Amino acid sequence: MLWAGTAAAADEVFHDIEVDLQPASGEIGIVDRVRLSPRDTYRFRLAPWLVIERLTADGVALTPTRRDAEYRVELDGQAGAELRFELRGSVPPRAAGSLASGGADGVYLPGYADWIPAGVDERVDFALAVRVPPGQRAVATGNLTTEASDDGGQRAHFAAAWPGEAPSLFVGPYEVRERRESEPPVRTYFHPELAPLAETYLDAAAGYLDRYEAQIGDYPYADFSIVSAPLPVGLGFPGLTYVGREVLPLPFMRARSLAHEVLHNWWGNGVAVDYARGNWAEGLTTYQADYALAEDTGAAAARDMRLKWLRDYAALPPGRDRPLVEFVGKTHDAAQVVGYNKAAFVFHMLRYEIGEAAFSRALRDFWLRHRRGRASWQDLEAAFARAAGRPLDWFFAQWLERAGAPILELGSHRVDALADGYRTRIELRQRGEPYRLGLALELVTDDGTERRRVVLSDASTTLELTSRARPRALQIDPASDLFRRLDASETPTILRDVSLHPETLTVVVGDSEDFRAAAEELAARLLDTAPSYGPLERAAQASRPVLVIATRDALARIEATLDLEPVVAPPSPSMSAGAWTARRASGAAVLIVAARDAAALRALARPLPHYGGQSFIYFDGARARERGLWPVARGPLYRQLD
Ligand SMILES: [Zn+2]
Repeated sequence: MLWAGTAAAADEVFHDIEVDLQPASGEIGIVDRVRLSPRDTYRFRLAPWLVIERLTADGVALTPTRRDAEYRVELDGQAGAELRFELRGSVPPRAAGSLASGGADGVYLPGYADWIPAGVDERVDFALAVRVPPGQRAVATGNLTTEASDDGGQRAHFAAAWPGEAPSLFVGPYEVRERRESEPPVRTYFHPELAPLAETYLDAAAGYLDRYEAQIGDYPYADFSIVSAPLPVGLGFPGLTYVGREVLPLPFMRARSLAHEVLHNWWGNGVAVDYARGNWAEGLTTYQADYALAEDTGAAAARDMRLKWLRDYAALPPGRDRPLVEFVGKTHDAAQVVGYNKAAFVFHMLRYEIGEAAFSRALRDFWLRHRRGRASWQDLEAAFARAAGRPLDWFFAQWLERAGAPILELGSHRVDALADGYRTRIELRQRGEPYRLGLALELVTDDGTERRRVVLSDASTTLELTSRARPRALQIDPASDLFRRLDASETPTILRDVSLHPETLTVVVGDSEDFRAAAEELAARLLDTAPSYGPLERAAQASRPVLVIATRDALARIEATLDLEPVVAPPSPSMSAGAWTARRASGAAVLIVAARDAAALRALARPLPHYGGQSFIYFDGARARERGLWPVARGPLYRQLD
């Protein structure tokens, strides 16, 4: 995850900031000396929980006017070399939707929460001094310059690495571990119960930093910190990542998500995203972090990840599909399917289109040109075209500007015996406006499997393949290297077929108010759009996807009403709950969530939404015990030739 910075190129302003913070009460005092270029007015935003106690320009008191969230102060041209703000307030306690939040277990002041006065288009340069009481430690974006502790608490100073977004400040009862000999130095700011994890996190972060420095170029900040959050988040900031204290112990966090957050220091922070023209950073980060780690473990794991992306995409109703260039940030699951996964797949296809060496060269060149600045998809295209030595406008246009994906199918085939072997002719069709595609194929013959590469750009292409031995079967795109819309026959039904669909009907079958309340809570978390409820009888008529949340004893009645085949492998009675999918005769997907009781259902609220890519998943409490995909057929790109 990544947050938008604030600044356009224009207005660079230096802030010399002093903060005195009491986490237990939330009380905060801020002095900000703002050095402005000469101007008549200064417009700035400031969080509503902060009060301007005093504002002076070179010692003369000023009174700002306020309109909505924006303040304005008149400076009459010559004055305004330095504005001195004295601010006081109380950081709001944690609540849903609040940008900044306080508490003795952690204070969170992200730059976009406007906790210092700054203009919307301002590039903030800053020096930040923070004082916190004993037992508390402060860490901020920017480079740590000095740090000292005494009986009065801790003082730490930070300086912006370069002008950009306003500083983000994090304070908590942290134990700090540091690996100074690493280049750059890495630190953990962990809650005390996480201290045993610090060493492994320091190792992992240092490893990822080395990896990306070698692949892309020098790390752009002086140090890197992993900061534990009282909130269930995983956020990337310049030079640090802020991760929920309950998330940090989970294995996927260190094994995969940490790499993603580390890489955002290059893509998203080191080179900022020019949001006016789409967000390329999530796709590239997903490809070089999440995907590359899968690739490290082997070709099979990499292919599994590509297939998962394709299945998730197949579950996206066409009405919710948008061109990749329109993706700006993840607001719901549907945006992730395109903005992260399809984008990562586009980088995968690009790597095959221009080759490994040109692909790496392009990214290093892109980094050198745009670090400490901002860049768009067009800048990426230019870097790849330079590295490839040929235009790639056709590639970027078809994958970025068009919604949707190629739909391929095989037409008729014919095998002829020749004097010295065989000739196979087979038609390969694209539905809709054709894409230009380079494709791998495998021809299985009596002598073994032969691999070929073909290029198609028309709605219909007849492939002509000669072989010495008799051909037996043909598979187009055997390793799933092409982003395409999978056919229903080659995609198992998954939870997302129901959870992403805006017309899903939700049915609750349970005997108590408590169960119904737990079911409604779960539906709200699981579905990507607000749930719409109806009775089971209505689901029987419906051709739309159905989510059924039920007690176990109701299962037989549900299967009969919806006319479902009994599930192949239902959860064993020792499991407290299960979720599994089925497809009805109409083609609509059904997701059944069955639980022993309301408590067993409540235990699913957090874990279940993470398993949208599965066909079935069975739980013992909140722990997933068994999961998997229903088996599928070979699909429309396989053909038996004899
Ligand atoms: Zn991200």
